[in-house]
Amino acid sequence: HGEASEVVIETPNGPVAIGEHHPVVVVAGPCSVENEAMIIGTAQRVKAAGAKFLRGGAYKPRTSPYAFQGHGESALELLAAAREATGLGIITEVMDGADLEKIALVADVIQVGARNMQNFSLLKQVGQQDKPVLLKRGMAATIEDWLMAAEYILAAGNSQVILCERGIRTFDRQYTRNTLDLSCIPVLRQLTHLPIMIDPSHGTGWAAYVPTMAKAALAAGTDSLMIEVHPNPPKALSDGPQSLTPDQFDQLMAELAVIGNAV
Ligand code: PEP
Ligand code: MN
Repeated sequence: HGEASEVVIETPNGPVAIGEHHPVVVVAGPCSVENEAMIIGTAQRVKAAGAKFLRGGAYKPRTSPYAFQGHGESALELLAAAREATGLGIITEVMDGADLEKIALVADVIQVGARNMQNFSLLKQVGQQDKPVLLKRGMAATIEDWLMAAEYILAAGNSQVILCERGIRTFDRQYTRNTLDLSCIPVLRQLTHLPIMIDPSHGTGWAAYVPTMAKAALAAGTDSLMIEVHPNPPKALSDGPQSLTPDQFDQLMAELAVIGNAV
């Protein structure tokens, strides 16, 4: 239904196309927007390394209600400042349809997180607005579930959908947070024209494993990557253990360039 083989996103630095016939696009940034210095500083570093989009959560879907929930509207303002300072496109998550309008004022791509992949009223809402949507795979979603969730967005009138694999729940939680399903890449290629993004940060849960799986995703033919980067991971308010430092991100981008087809 209404599938596009690429999603073209207008950023201040110009249009960026994500799809099979384009160079691999890298999205990078912290799990959460914490303060102005960290988001602007991280944006500058990931831009210099070749990322085309800055990610950062303003509204965070945390397992515990007592964990940091994101800075909300003030974080959106900081993302707007980072966009202004670097020209990077912005990707940030919507959790509540009531926040969609103000998020869409700042975001170039609206993220629907794993936990909301089957929030059908939210899917309809993001389908009725015109910003591209990054649909993360639910942690226990089959490929069919995931594609049908995408279908809700397409059916509501928005054809600009990117599918993001971020790991699924399997047996092990001791050594990996999730199991990154890279086999989804060739499977999705057969089933859909929608562009593919792989998130090895949430997919593994550990910074030490992120570069290996990012390179594996590139070799397997992903269209884009999402990588969490934090200036000081041990002090991160969320997802520090899986976040690369800016130096580690530089190193990864250099390694990806060797494999080819990256940025
Ligand atoms: C995130 O991108 O920080 C996030 C919460 O991702 P997911 O929905 O994949 O857990
Ligand atoms: Mn995160």
